[in-house]
Amino acid sequence: MILDSRDLSIKGVSLDNGIATSFSIADPIEFMGSKFTIQIQPGTQKVNITYATSPDAAALQWLDPSQTAGGKKPFLFTQSQAILARTWIPLQDSPGIKFTYNATIKCPNDLMALMSAENDTTIHADGIYKFKMPQPISSYLMALSVGDLQFRSLGDNCGVFAEPSMIDKSAWEFADLKKMITSAEELYGPYAWGRYDVLVLPPSFPFGGMENPRITFATPTIIAGDRSLVALVAHELAHSWSGNLVTNATWNDFWLNEGFTVYFETRIMEKIYGKAYADMLTLLSLGELKETIDAMGDTSKDTHLYLDLAGRDPDEGVSDIAYEKGRFFLTSIEMAIGRERWDAFVNNYFSTYAFQSMDTKSFLEYLEKELIKGDSKLREQINANAWVYGPGLPANCPVITSVELEKAGKAAADFKSGNPAKSLNTSEWTTHHWMYFLRNLNDSLDLKKMTELDATFNFTNSGNSEIQCEWYQHAIASNYEVAFPAMEKFLLHVGRRKFLKPIYSELAKTPSGLERGRAIYKKARPGYHAVATQTIDAILKWEL
Ligand SMILES: [Zn+2]
Repeated sequence: MILDSRDLSIKGVSLDNGIATSFSIADPIEFMGSKFTIQIQPGTQKVNITYATSPDAAALQWLDPSQTAGGKKPFLFTQSQAILARTWIPLQDSPGIKFTYNATIKCPNDLMALMSAENDTTIHADGIYKFKMPQPISSYLMALSVGDLQFRSLGDNCGVFAEPSMIDKSAWEFADLKKMITSAEELYGPYAWGRYDVLVLPPSFPFGGMENPRITFATPTIIAGDRSLVALVAHELAHSWSGNLVTNATWNDFWLNEGFTVYFETRIMEKIYGKAYADMLTLLSLGELKETIDAMGDTSKDTHLYLDLAGRDPDEGVSDIAYEKGRFFLTSIEMAIGRERWDAFVNNYFSTYAFQSMDTKSFLEYLEKELIKGDSKLREQINANAWVYGPGLPANCPVITSVELEKAGKAAADFKSGNPAKSLNTSEWTTHHWMYFLRNLNDSLDLKKMTELDATFNFTNSGNSEIQCEWYQHAIASNYEVAFPAMEKFLLHVGRRKFLKPIYSELAKTPSGLERGRAIYKKARPGYHAVATQTIDAILKWEL
């Protein structure tokens, strides 16, 4: 039997009722780890492996009390996607392989353990937690978290876990959770996993969210105090269908997970908050996608939906291409055939392939068989090959407009042409208006304009992570030093890669910025997860 392993210390392997067997661990290959080969016998039913993880296992982040919201107790969380599960469990670490599991976790008795499984919502006085995951999942969805946690119900079969100091804020922010689940089910069929809970992690969590089955792991940076960033929860919830239920067979097919999920997320948001709101999210995303394609170059093979990650860490496939180009491909099909026909197709797709994996070629065959049905005009209109196996954005990419964001765009133009910041009508604005406004200002504003904006809108100390991220990029480009202490504090506190990447990249553009970036990174790096440091090390050319 051959398993994946990376940085594990294997103490011994036995078969069935304890008969020792021989095993070997091959030399490690960078980011892949080591092939772990176990001799088994005909009829072997059980393989017992005794092992320990390494202190710097890439999936595990062990937090000091000072890195938590409460500041008193340590915290542990895992992040297994893409191929990091092998750093804490020896297993077959490919998304195309699924399994069920049972686990027993023993932790200090003042802490609570949670897994991507059936979870209890109360603390166990003996510190022993038994878990069962009866539905088959892929290895990248293996998850564990241990910390000072409390639970708050948000309705039938759903709720939120967070540190005590965060539980009220989190429960308020996610008040629409039940509505999201109901809306998702109305769109694409019953939720297949029993409970759906959200766990709010400490700020070093490298992602926005991770769709661990039954319990989404989420960054606290979406707790904005105004419910403006909850689309992320809709996204992770949508993964309960696209990804967790029908799973990309390989990481080259990642767009099948993420493209469907972004599409589905937007539909949930539209259903609950209306089309004008969803259009704002979609237009912001289209802007991000175009920037990504510009940066990669519109002939780059990495802008194809179907990726070729041979010899590379699959984490390199995580870009707007899978998420947003994937979504706009699906949106373009919806527009070609109408929502009703498209929704019927998607419903069938999820129910036909539930608990199975899907690759790009098979999906396109299914699309042909169930939807195109030999209609050559429709096939041409959908233009799947250009989307999946071609670069950039095909000509039939949907045109997105947003009445709401137009207001923010106009305000940015007015300000650039000399209107004072005070005169702009921003009273009804959401986070998304502000993001669009900031993105539509010149890359480098003079210090007078920066000072005026800051004095009027208090961007430097906004407290909203999305706005801060946009603003600090302007501050760096304009050398607006007033914002630097707050920016440093943000970088020391938050470990979400989506924010770290643009800020450190902007810093790295000039020698003095790079120097500043490195000085901050030196202090911040020990608090970041390996997923984030891998990306930022490359941006800052960090040498260990
Ligand atoms: Zn996702």
